[in-house]
Amino acid sequence: MTLSRLQPVRGTRDLLPDDCRRHRLVGETARAIAERYGYGEIATPIFEFTEVFKRTLGETSDIVTKEMYSFTDRGGEMLTLRPENTAGVARAFISGELGQLLPLKFFYAGPMFRHERPQKGRLRQFHQIGVELIGVAEPLGDIEVIGLGAHILDALGVLGRTTLELNTLGDAESRQAYRAALRDYLGARRAALSPESQERLERNPLRILDSKDAGDRQLIQDAPRNAEFLNAASADFFKRVRDGLDAIGVRYTVNPFLVRGLDYYCHSAFEFTTTELGAQSAVLAGGRYDGLIETMGGPPTPGVGWAAGIERLSMLVADVPMATRPIALVPVGAAGEAAALALAAELRRAGFAIDLGYRGNMSKRMKHANKANARAALLIGDDELAKDIVTLRDLDSGGQEAVERGRLAERLAAFR
Ligand code: ATP
Ligand code: MG
Repeated sequence: MTLSRLQPVRGTRDLLPDDCRRHRLVGETARAIAERYGYGEIATPIFEFTEVFKRTLGETSDIVTKEMYSFTDRGGEMLTLRPENTAGVARAFISGELGQLLPLKFFYAGPMFRHERPQKGRLRQFHQIGVELIGVAEPLGDIEVIGLGAHILDALGVLGRTTLELNTLGDAESRQAYRAALRDYLGARRAALSPESQERLERNPLRILDSKDAGDRQLIQDAPRNAEFLNAASADFFKRVRDGLDAIGVRYTVNPFLVRGLDYYCHSAFEFTTTELGAQSAVLAGGRYDGLIETMGGPPTPGVGWAAGIERLSMLVADVPMATRPIALVPVGAAGEAAALALAAELRRAGFAIDLGYRGNMSKRMKHANKANARAALLIGDDELAKDIVTLRDLDSGGQEAVERGRLAERLAAFR
């Protein structure tokens, strides 16, 4: 491959400064709000033993069967680039023996990797923010994490363009009863199911509810609804979650077909969706995973959390301007150049964003200053040097004044 044709790996993207600014806005907004709820940041490794994901995501999940970036390292270890972060956090909880510290509240942000068909809002390396609340079995936990998600979306200005879809899977007993009923219903109509759904029928019939196939969707419309199979405790749990969301003013619609693709979820399943991103409608998704940590060999410990795609959120947020407009330094003549270099160093140390061009006459440099959206320009040439002043031009008003060199930082404070 010649260098001129060198491409990034399919499904990966370079984040240029504009992109990074959006990503950072999403990450920093989320981190700051999560902190208000007491969620501290955790960063787990980008790769784990493949087992960590196989066990937790379930052998039949899309991620495990089709999407994982797995490899054997030089030491013969089977490793996988993390496709999501809940498994890594649960692994950290177990291996760090953090059981004495419950409840634990974690926030994370970072890259995830899934080998899927790249399209708008769907990448092979993408980024997520997310939270995990570990050790709280009460509905208050579900309410808190959903409320926190809504709060972050609101702060980013996107909540109004999303719908919160909510469902419950109930506890293990309810799920079992529903699973059996669904298997009976769909089993009797097996031939009409898509081949993929036929495969799922035995192992994980709940996932058929998720099918995009038109024929499957037809059958699912008339399938038994899980609400009928919730035992009293599960129905009560769901009611308390809904009442809590009402109490904090978070609106939702119940979607009886919302099931998460992962096997360890119970009770709440939720997704904030939007119609603004084409086929990729899910912005933030999560649920309760009380069985997960025990499945992984840890002490039985409840958990609830969510993850949101930073790329998808970035596409929804408004343009993010540079935080600070620079001040342009415009040297005139050779002596001015030398003086500007020293002045730039001094002002940057004093905390100013300084744009110092590399070449060009004064008119070129002024053009450049405008292009850089500079707030003001400082002109420095022989005349200024002789009088120990700098000429300050306000690029918004066009006004100009001479400022004593010694009082420059003070005068510039208004242009920060
Ligand atoms: P989808 O139905 O879109 O495939 P998912 O159910 O696989 O989503 P989750 O595993 O719940 O997604 O991940 C949480 C969030 O991460 C999603 O709602 C989405 O915003 C984002 N996300 C998931 N996969 C990708 C991807 N390949 N590229 C970009 N963002 C993604
Ligand atoms: Mg997916």
